[in-house]
Amino acid sequence: MPRLLNCEAVPRKMASCIFDSGFNALEDGLTVRDAIDKNIIEHQLKGITDAFHVADLGALVDQHLRWQRALPRVKPFYAVKCNSSKPVVQILAQMGMGFDCASKNEIALIRDIGVAAERIIYANPCKESSHIKYAASRGVRTMTYDNEDELPKVAMNHPTAKMVLRIAVDDSKSSFPLSGKFGAPMNECKVLMESARALHMDIIGVSFHVGSGCTDPNAFTQAIAEARLVIDIGIDLGFHMNLLDIGGGFTGADHILFEEMATVINHALDIYFPEESQVQIIAEPGTYYVASTFTLAVNIIGRKIVKNEQLCSDDKEADNKKVIMYYLNDGNFGSLLDFDHNLKPLLCKKHSPDQQLYNSRVWGPTTDNQDHISDRWKLPELEIGDWLIFENIGAYSIRKLSRR
Ligand code: PLP
Repeated sequence: MPRLLNCEAVPRKMASCIFDSGFNALEDGLTVRDAIDKNIIEHQLKGITDAFHVADLGALVDQHLRWQRALPRVKPFYAVKCNSSKPVVQILAQMGMGFDCASKNEIALIRDIGVAAERIIYANPCKESSHIKYAASRGVRTMTYDNEDELPKVAMNHPTAKMVLRIAVDDSKSSFPLSGKFGAPMNECKVLMESARALHMDIIGVSFHVGSGCTDPNAFTQAIAEARLVIDIGIDLGFHMNLLDIGGGFTGADHILFEEMATVINHALDIYFPEESQVQIIAEPGTYYVASTFTLAVNIIGRKIVKNEQLCSDDKEADNKKVIMYYLNDGNFGSLLDFDHNLKPLLCKKHSPDQQLYNSRVWGPTTDNQDHISDRWKLPELEIGDWLIFENIGAYSIRKLSRR
């Protein structure tokens, strides 16, 4: 298996047609940077300056081994929404992973690459009826819910489904909180389980998500403790509760934080779900697996030097001599969607450390004013045609499948 892949990019909306055919294996022995440099040179000879990704698929294997070492009791179900490119899901499937699918298309993708239905959780608490029916037709039985109205839909379209009650947990320590959208409040869980029982539905467990980009391992402790309470309510109601799903939220690039999280999670599991409890523990990591796998190279396609008299007051206070605006050929409506702008590019072109740095305002290629990537980077003066490199860009950057 080649470790490195190159994929053509992307006016974002074209991504779906490009990615199926757009992956090329690169020769062994190249580093990601070598591959980027080589690709730039080859493309420049043909006059092509499109943005592109390089994927280090070996990083998927490294991350999986790290996961198994750190969280031996937790089986990962990769969150397909995070990056549904085929080489990624195929390699994860070969390593025996489970999959968290959030839509009909994601279920189709994962079933079509030969993954057994038992290795899929349909982890979307609010599903379209036709998608529930589709899940049934592909043998997928385990699915989440968090509200009353979901139950009759599932009862009608998939009476043998195994329900997992998603609870809302504290997500205040994450970059992308999710509990505002999904998750039942603790005080509604009993009623939600009674309603399922009234419809003769089976509930097998509890899930939660502490929010993506979680920075506080203790968020998991609290959530695991709350899940225990809900599982106990389910047991009291007569359900055979044997699944705990601790969701996503795991950092992708920060190995130290991941190890810390794992230590805290293992400890909480030992307290609330010791081995003897016979509850199977799963998680739905997305970012963790793919963030560091992909690197993006983007081209500067336009530049504008903002003259002194046009500077805004912030720039003047910062005593900047000039601000340079750059326009890139990928941006917030493409691969840089969803990024907290702690992101910082590397420069392809070598520059000396004593070169003057300027405040830079960086935009994506669309005419939308929201396509504003950053104005916090201090960069040396760059030119049209120069390349910027963004590392750790594999999560929520390459979106082949819509949610449908
Ligand atoms: N599971 C569910 C239900 C999600 O909504 C998400 C992200 O939105 C994930 C898993 C993956 O989360 P992360 O990328 O933080 O691992």
